[in-house]
Amino acid sequence: MTFHCKNYDIVEDKCKRLHGECVPGRRGCVVEGRVALSEELEEKIKALNGTVSEEFLELLKKK
Ligand code: SF4
Repeated sequence: MTFHCKNYDIVEDKCKRLHGECVPGRRGCVVEGRVALSEELEEKIKALNGTVSEEFLELLKKK
């Protein structure tokens, strides 16, 4: 399955929302908790844990 995310910057190959790598399902991502993730994605998300501050995540929720 493929999808298009409005937050994905195809030129820069990164997430405009999180100002970093696009890893669907990561904390703060619009599909977080809404999709089943592959083992590879889960491993990438584990590696990213802690790279987005709680304050930034709270700001995203208010948008
Ligand atoms: S990380 Fe999530 S919100 Fe960001 S571009 Fe990728 S799919 Fe979209």
